[in-house]
Amino acid sequence: MIAEPSERQATNSLGNTLVATPATLPSPKPSLQYKSEPSTEASITTQSANLPPSTHPRVVIVGAGFAGLEAAKTLESGPFQVVILDKNNYNQFQPLFYQVATAGLEPSSISFPLRKLFQNKPNVHIRVTAVQSLEPERKILNTTIGEIRYDYLILALGGDTNFFGNERIKQYAIPMKSVSEALYLRNRLLQNYEDAIVTTDEEERQALMNVVVVGGGPTGVEVSGALEEMRQHVLPKDIPELNFKKMEVTLLEASPNLLGPMRASSREAARNYLESMGVKVRTNTAVTDYDGKWVTLADGSKLLSRTLIWAAGIKANGILGIPDSCYTRGNRLVVDEYNTIIGLKDVFAVGDMSYMTTTDFPQGHPQVAQVAMQMSANLGKNLLRTINNQPIKSFRYLDLGSMATIGRNKAVADFPKFSVTGLFAWFIWMFIHLASLVGARSKVVVFINWMVSYFSYDQSLRLIIRPTSKPILAEEKVG
Ligand SMILES: Cc1cc2nc3c(=O)[nH]c(=O)nc-3n(C[C@H](O)[C@H](O)[C@H](O)COP(=O)(O)OP(=O)(O)OC[C@H]3O[C@@H](n4cnc5c(N)ncnc54)[C@H](O)[C@@H]3O)c2cc1C
Repeated sequence: MIAEPSERQATNSLGNTLVATPATLPSPKPSLQYKSEPSTEASITTQSANLPPSTHPRVVIVGAGFAGLEAAKTLESGPFQVVILDKNNYNQFQPLFYQVATAGLEPSSISFPLRKLFQNKPNVHIRVTAVQSLEPERKILNTTIGEIRYDYLILALGGDTNFFGNERIKQYAIPMKSVSEALYLRNRLLQNYEDAIVTTDEEERQALMNVVVVGGGPTGVEVSGALEEMRQHVLPKDIPELNFKKMEVTLLEASPNLLGPMRASSREAARNYLESMGVKVRTNTAVTDYDGKWVTLADGSKLLSRTLIWAAGIKANGILGIPDSCYTRGNRLVVDEYNTIIGLKDVFAVGDMSYMTTTDFPQGHPQVAQVAMQMSANLGKNLLRTINNQPIKSFRYLDLGSMATIGRNKAVADFPKFSVTGLFAWFIWMFIHLASLVGARSKVVVFINWMVSYFSYDQSLRLIIRPTSKPILAEEKVG
């Protein structure tokens, strides 16, 4: 991987350049209450986006991922008008993207329609729109469907892939930070094998079959294991014309270990599992360039692959209008222990895009689902406490553990007091992921898919489905 400079320019999701200044952070100022002064006049008028008038203060939540949904669920029955804005009309379960990419699950199994979640919640309004900018002085968000006023604003936009400024890698590598990118990767992998059958060029065939994964975190480990299982059990049956013994799955990690934050025993077990399956694991190995065919490593050597999966970095999504001084490294927004963005009033950031330092987490919290959910639940309760004139509480993260699955019967899991590996860890991994999926239907569908794959050594979703595109007629355009 490419090291992140200590001070750099970052670009937010809308393309503006932001200067990250990580050196010193303002110290959080303790406050007893969130002090909002909702404009009564504004509160009872209808604005754009066809939101109904309400006498309740309006909480606008941008982003319906792990953090945004948790905030909305905490507030859905409270004395607020809750407005959820997301560019998609569904919630996505990132931990299983790699199974969509390797044809194990359909995108619909891990994506859940937002409107279904908030049926019978008259205080909750959903608008599908991309948020463009913020005007904190006017308490206004600019979106693709017009201006939206807020009394309290919760920013939960998550993050996007960080290519650390390497434009060539960005151009050719495949990220996996959205369900559409996971689907794109699935199509690409399957198409590569179709192309490998027809080419007569040996080197090109090898390049089309090989896969290089960059980033030895849970995503890189899990996708490498899944690809190796495809190589052994699925692809040779589908395409006997190709010799899959020649296909190589290589996992590259710049630091000395896979799964860096986990305990040493789990890190070693994960590496042993991958290597015993056939994955070529290379730690202390950074990628410096990729031209779509050759991956260049820091020592100057090269690897041949038409597929480079980039699972090596995250940068938070930003919004125009937030002063540069509010951002720190990784494009994250600096918040106090109540999740208020330092320097802004009644504007909060939660989840992957927030950066909160505490004595337990002097470098900020990990960008994982549990942090996102726990932060948002605390923030939601604090807003309710504020309305009820009760003191608000600072956020304390309760670390429930971390885990990664490598393949059939193989996983590693660290809990606060102990670690487990192998079959037992694999069962725990499956149980926790099934329980965390949104919606009963998704849980049943995923469980059935896993059982069928387990007993048949097969996945049934190896379809190359490309969306068609047609020109949008003027009258069909929204906003
Ligand atoms: C491949 C992958 C695997 C992972 N595996 C694990 C795991 O096993 N365990 C774990 O704990 N964590 C895992 N994570 C991390 C975890 O998914 C994140 O920490 C978590 O999703 C953060 O939640 P969030 O709500 O902050 O952001 P997200 O869940 O990313 O939600 C952000 C939301 O904001 C919306 N949005 C973004 N920009 C705009 C805009 N301009 N306008 C409107 N809406 C916008 C997006 O559509 C999205 O719905 C994984 C992440 C990835 C990418």
